[in-house]
Amino acid sequence: MKVFKFGGTSVGSAAGLQNIREIIAREPGRVAVVVSALGGVTDLLLSTGATAAQADPAYCDRYESICRRHREAIAESVPAHLQEETRAQVEALLEELGNILRGVFLIQDLSPKTTNTIVGYGERLSSLIVSRIIDGAVLRDARAFIKTEPYFNKHIVDFALTNELVRSTFADDARVSVVPGFISSDKTTGEATTLGRGGSDYTAAIIAAAVGAEALNIYTDVDGFMTADPRVIDKAYLIESLTFVEAMELCNFGAKVIYPPTIFPAYNRNIPIYIRNTYRTECPGTYISREVTVPVAGRGDMHKAIKGISSINDSCLLTIRGLGMCGVIGVNYRIFKALAKAGVSVFMVSQASSENTTSIGVRRDDAERAREVLSTEFAQEIATGEIDEIMLECDLATVAIVGENMRHCPGIAGKLFGTLGRNGINVIACAQGASETNISFVVKVESLRKTLNVIHDSFFLSEYQVLNLFLTGVGLVGGSLIEQIRSQQEVLLRTNALKINVVGISNSRRSIFDRDGIDLARYRELLENEGVPTTPQTIRDRITEMNIFNSVFVDCTASPAVAEIYGDLLSHNVSVVTANKIAASSAYEHYAALKNTARTRGVKFLFETNVGAGLPIINTINDLRHSGDTILGLRAVLSGTLNYIFNVLSEEIPFSRAVAMAKEAGYAEPDPRIDLSGTDVVRKLVILARESGYEVEQADVVKNLFVPNSIFEGSTEDFWAKVPQLDAEFERQRRVLAAEGKRWRFVALMENGRCSVGLETVEAGHPFYDLEGSNNIILIRTTRYDEYPLQIKGYGAGASVTAAGVFADIMSIANIR
Ligand code: ADP
Ligand code: ASP
Ligand code: MG
Repeated sequence: MKVFKFGGTSVGSAAGLQNIREIIAREPGRVAVVVSALGGVTDLLLSTGATAAQADPAYCDRYESICRRHREAIAESVPAHLQEETRAQVEALLEELGNILRGVFLIQDLSPKTTNTIVGYGERLSSLIVSRIIDGAVLRDARAFIKTEPYFNKHIVDFALTNELVRSTFADDARVSVVPGFISSDKTTGEATTLGRGGSDYTAAIIAAAVGAEALNIYTDVDGFMTADPRVIDKAYLIESLTFVEAMELCNFGAKVIYPPTIFPAYNRNIPIYIRNTYRTECPGTYISREVTVPVAGRGDMHKAIKGISSINDSCLLTIRGLGMCGVIGVNYRIFKALAKAGVSVFMVSQASSENTTSIGVRRDDAERAREVLSTEFAQEIATGEIDEIMLECDLATVAIVGENMRHCPGIAGKLFGTLGRNGINVIACAQGASETNISFVVKVESLRKTLNVIHDSFFLSEYQVLNLFLTGVGLVGGSLIEQIRSQQEVLLRTNALKINVVGISNSRRSIFDRDGIDLARYRELLENEGVPTTPQTIRDRITEMNIFNSVFVDCTASPAVAEIYGDLLSHNVSVVTANKIAASSAYEHYAALKNTARTRGVKFLFETNVGAGLPIINTINDLRHSGDTILGLRAVLSGTLNYIFNVLSEEIPFSRAVAMAKEAGYAEPDPRIDLSGTDVVRKLVILARESGYEVEQADVVKNLFVPNSIFEGSTEDFWAKVPQLDAEFERQRRVLAAEGKRWRFVALMENGRCSVGLETVEAGHPFYDLEGSNNIILIRTTRYDEYPLQIKGYGAGASVTAAGVFADIMSIANIR
């Protein structure tokens, strides 16, 4: 015989019922068909009972909708010649149910016994209808052969009696039997009981085990057991095979696809379980058996070692702690005895070898009771201080990764906890049994979604890595970066297995966010039409609230307000890549704190483009220092704008025009006064000095300016109006310089931490003399590169090279360089 079980979603629609008929018709041998209530009816029955018990006449509407569901099912699916008879039987049951509900309404009393009776109508009605749909089916009443006895506050199956009754019930030669799942009766009183929510699976397993069935087929609304709950992880995929142990570990821990007690009877009699989709019968589903597929020895194939992930989100943790517990025999015995007596189920235990702390995972409903019970049990030790007050922490979730092959594969725990750590997920407690088939750990419930996603990605989808970007600033640099990302996305996925997902974009007014990735071809239109008004603070809040793994905040603005949110982002494990110099050149203490936060959080704070646009200057300095070199001095032209201005000055192009041209070419800062006042170079020099190992503030830099301070007073408009006043003097000096064969360069200097900036004249042959356009150059003098300093030279400004530098920083976070 084979046993089939069809869940609520399968019996809840005309298409599902039609498929059930066909599946059973294809079976050549004897079958038992166990059915759940029509989808949603169990919940509806419970809430109707509760409403009636409150003397709320609204229960009538609910009762009516229950009646309607069943009448519709008959009209749609029962063959015409059987409809009248079926309807009469169903109406009789509905009438009984209506009378019971009316009684509850009148006396306002709903005992557990009455609840069990009411809720059982769901399966009684559905099984009656299904038995009329399948040709030649015999309807059997599960209450007559699934027998329970009380155990704490539950009913458990009396297997000796049940097995005997099942065998005698199925001893006849009916080809198809239809059985209501979930319902049972007390072995002594005969009162209605149930096997617990989701219990139809269990009914099917009990029958399969009792008759020694060939197979147990559980049909539901998904293709089978998936690597994670498909409602949470949309990338979850089908697991083709599981062992009984793996299936048990997974469903015990929240994988709702099978009711946990179902596994044992099948395992015990070695009856394979198939989980299949009623609506996609062509799909092979999941095969659960004793067979373990061992990965190739020595390959340490993590991919196959982990079969699935499951979680429960109503976890609480009780902690019993006290120095008086160390080495004392019997503490654990007392903990578990007290909890067992109170009927509290413990799903996780974690105790360190020092024995002074034991943490216990319980469900929310049991938590307060468990705390009271333990506080009473240890009242004396708590009074003397040997044991602390029992701690209860709620709003937690417990996650388990499961796989029998984990024991063949070192490094799983390392990979698991490493992944969690890098993503800022704090593990509150963890447990791994010596069987090594399961590692369970507890996190805050608000981190659950992120936890499941990061683990799923790292263990199951590790064919590619995902980097999630939040981009702020879509001006010249930001716009160029988005274009570069757009054109490289495909290539990076193909050649580097890196998926770049831009999940947020903002300009100074609006933001758009999309966990699944924003369409980069349309981001400007989306910002305009769908963008929400924002400030840097709202962007920060949104990013932390989205709590996406492997995320990077990219700042392509020059805004001090945007720079202010880096600290919070880094503390939330979001890496920061910035072209904005404000943060790295702010007070040393702040700069150092940001770097420190990044280090302790295991994320990156990168700002290569703060100096020399895309030129690899900061990385080079760091590489030198990491290899033990010491940076002794720096001599550099670091302002693309100023270099450009001094290069284009001529008889035809006066100073004011040269400044305007630098702005038009996109080299200058949004506010060109920042360039002309030397502020921009001072910021860059401070950053380089700091990266070289010197504690320098902007105020420490000696500034030798080449334009009078009065030019910078007032607004930007005032500035543009005043600049032409400088033209005549610049032209006079330029002629003198040209006659001497010299050129102007605005030079930044650092000698053993002492910094200065100022205009210098250089002659032909000087490394700075032939520095075309907006190029930058830096000479780095170190212990190793002393007599001949290391030189880096190239474009020092411009949107596309700066964007490329930002891109390179992003790549280095993905370890692609
Ligand atoms: P039925 O009514 O058929 O008994 P259930 O709702 O009890 O169906 O169980 C099937 C549901 O279990 C699926 O729709 C899915 O949302 C959920 N589920 C949770 N975890 C998993 C998992 N790991 N694999 C498959 N389904 C899962
Ligand atoms: N109908 C019951 C429930 O919803 C049993 C089941 O579906 O397995 O819990
Ligand atoms: Mg179910």
